[in-house]
Amino acid sequence: MTSSAASGSTLALLLLVLALGLGLAWVWRDRTRLRREHATSLEQAERRLELALSASGEQFWELDLERRSLRRLHMRLDPIQGGQLVAERQTEWDGVIHPEDAALVRARLVSHLKGEAEAFVCDLRIREAEGSWRRVRAHGRATAHDAHGRVTRVSGVAHQIGDPAGMRPHPVADGVERNMREAVCVMHPDFSFVSVNPAFTQITGYAPADVLGRQVDLLDSPQHDSEFYAAIRAEVLVNGRWAGELWARRKDGEEFLCSAVFFAIGQPGHPPQTLVAVFSDITHQKRAEQELRYLANFDALTNLPNRALLSERLSRAIVRARRENSRIAVLFLDFDHFKDVNDSLGHAAGDRILRVAATRLQETVGEQSTVARLGGDEFTVVVEDVASPEDADHMAREIIMAFEAPLRLDERVEVAISPSIGISLYPDHGQVPTELLKRADTAMYQAKAAGRRTFSRYDDSMEVALRERATVSGALRKVLDRGELRLVFQPRMSLPQRRIVGVEALLRWQSSEHGDVPPAVFIPLAEETGLILELGEWVLREACLTLRRWQQSGLHRLSMSVNVSALQLLRGDFPLVVERVLAETGLAPDLLELELTESVIMANAEQTADKLQSFRRTGVSLAIDDFGTGYSSLAYLRRLPITTLKIDKEFIGDLSSDPDDASITTTVITMAHSLGLNVVAEGVETREQLDFLDAQGCDEIQGYWLSPPMESDRCQAFLRDWRPQDIRAAATG
Ligand code: C2E
Ligand code: MG
Ligand code: MG
Repeated sequence: MTSSAASGSTLALLLLVLALGLGLAWVWRDRTRLRREHATSLEQAERRLELALSASGEQFWELDLERRSLRRLHMRLDPIQGGQLVAERQTEWDGVIHPEDAALVRARLVSHLKGEAEAFVCDLRIREAEGSWRRVRAHGRATAHDAHGRVTRVSGVAHQIGDPAGMRPHPVADGVERNMREAVCVMHPDFSFVSVNPAFTQITGYAPADVLGRQVDLLDSPQHDSEFYAAIRAEVLVNGRWAGELWARRKDGEEFLCSAVFFAIGQPGHPPQTLVAVFSDITHQKRAEQELRYLANFDALTNLPNRALLSERLSRAIVRARRENSRIAVLFLDFDHFKDVNDSLGHAAGDRILRVAATRLQETVGEQSTVARLGGDEFTVVVEDVASPEDADHMAREIIMAFEAPLRLDERVEVAISPSIGISLYPDHGQVPTELLKRADTAMYQAKAAGRRTFSRYDDSMEVALRERATVSGALRKVLDRGELRLVFQPRMSLPQRRIVGVEALLRWQSSEHGDVPPAVFIPLAEETGLILELGEWVLREACLTLRRWQQSGLHRLSMSVNVSALQLLRGDFPLVVERVLAETGLAPDLLELELTESVIMANAEQTADKLQSFRRTGVSLAIDDFGTGYSSLAYLRRLPITTLKIDKEFIGDLSSDPDDASITTTVITMAHSLGLNVVAEGVETREQLDFLDAQGCDEIQGYWLSPPMESDRCQAFLRDWRPQDIRAAATG
């Protein structure tokens, strides 16, 4: 097997490596001599070695690489033999080393055999005779070579490390480690893997056998340079701990971000014995955070910056402008009647419109300007380096013009929306983002009030108007409780019959704080706040009650027209509200006419058609109010159960002066008749207008010529006393 020379060198090496003292050396020398002489004498020598070993607490091992066998000698107290020290010998290789440590042992061994490591040093678990595991630290060296110089034997000593129970992992701790979602790896102080848990394999893709004995740097990712990792490792060794986030690389090459803690285990003040790293893959969590950050800064619908990012960018722009002494324009943009579009086409289409509108807006102002969506249909544009206020106006005009062309939603659907724009300027109107935004918003309201589809630049007087608006809408809330509302009534006359056929109920608000507030001011406010639902129902009931009273006083064959706003119509239960009010007041449904403006009907096309049908089924008449101001075509109206068409006073007012208005009116009358509609001309103020309309076959007129709107009592008297000859009287009077 082995030559004497080899045995001698084995001895010398062992003396050096094992440092077991003279006793051991003697035993060993004796043992080899005996072995050379006779096999049985070997046992004697071993006996002595055993004794020496037992005294030192070490065990001796010898790995025969050719036979793949392990020899082990150590002493233990055998209770059966009455507490005698006995030697245990095991020669089987398999089963002695813990399966989880086998790869590490192999790796260490290979490294030593290749000459990479001067000695074989390895912490491992070995099986005791009774089957439990003992954790030991083994030191050894190649002690025999064959004729080709190949190592045939490695020998050394091992001593128990860790707790007296053999540092066998506590079953609970072991269970925790195995079931942890975090990767746990135990490493040597040289950062080579000793053990890893299942989560490690799951996260990194490396099986224990892939890594044990190898250096932790196999997980290093090119995202960091080697100094980064070196600094971490130095920190762990020096200070015993490092925690943070770092990139790592999986077995398949994919990189992942991990949150890691490294710590060293050992005696304080001494070099660490063991290192542990615990880490988890936070790539997804980070991505989610990034997404959240994105969501926090960008509008999910249009991908434009949101209010938060806008303020940040505006702040930065202000800093630049202050430094460079330049000017910034903030354009606040709101699409006109967008709510109606949204309600009528549905929210999905509304969202699509906003996306397309966002793109067009960005294209119009260019990439160098920030376009942000503040929510709903409100957008903001920040333009830097504006030479003069007129430049900002110019930009606003361009935007309005860009929206002249309809937005294309898909091959079939096109929608036209127009913006109203308010402008504020830095440094003229404000020094901070909030101020600039608020003032641009104020200016935008001014643009709306000025008729929409226009822009307006902020000036201080607007703030006053806005404050008023705010207080008016505050007062409006209390209006019903305070009884500040009332109805006035304006009669309608049939031209062929020369008789008053009905009245229109018009709402009036006499505010204790603000005096008479015109409906053109408070109705939009009530619509914005939703208060119109309550007000509208009040108007409906009040109008029906008034007509009932008049009927009871002997006035019959009169109908009552009530204006209805979009919000009321959109509410699911509006037909029920009407039915209920009719039932409560006892008014015949055919005496009630609901006036809907063109925009209400057009904005809600499909939805409205169904609603209108259900009104018609109850017997209520339906009129289109202010016809000619919107975009509805008569052809479209044909599909709706409309009974009456009211031509807007705008056309009537210009009948005599504007030939276009005259011909429009004539056409509308003719076409409406062809559709079987009753035609009412609003705002008739002169006899000429009346005569013209009469000649064109218009059915009814309403206007100052006949009478302005009147209080209920006065109107009742008017209706009672009115005679056809009054036409002539009015004409001459
Ligand atoms: P409208 O329904 O078109 O009402 C006709 C408007 O024209 C009334 O204005 C009336 O006073 C005015 N008018 C009548 N004859 C003439 C005339 O010969 N010349 C001129 N220049 N004007 C005339 P008013 O009362 O200020 O109402 C304005 C609008 O407010 C109404 O227009 C209607 O759309 C809305 N409104 C009024 N009452 C209500 C209501 O109870 N509910 C809703 N939703 N809207 C209402
Ligand atoms: Mg009306
Ligand atoms: Mg009208």
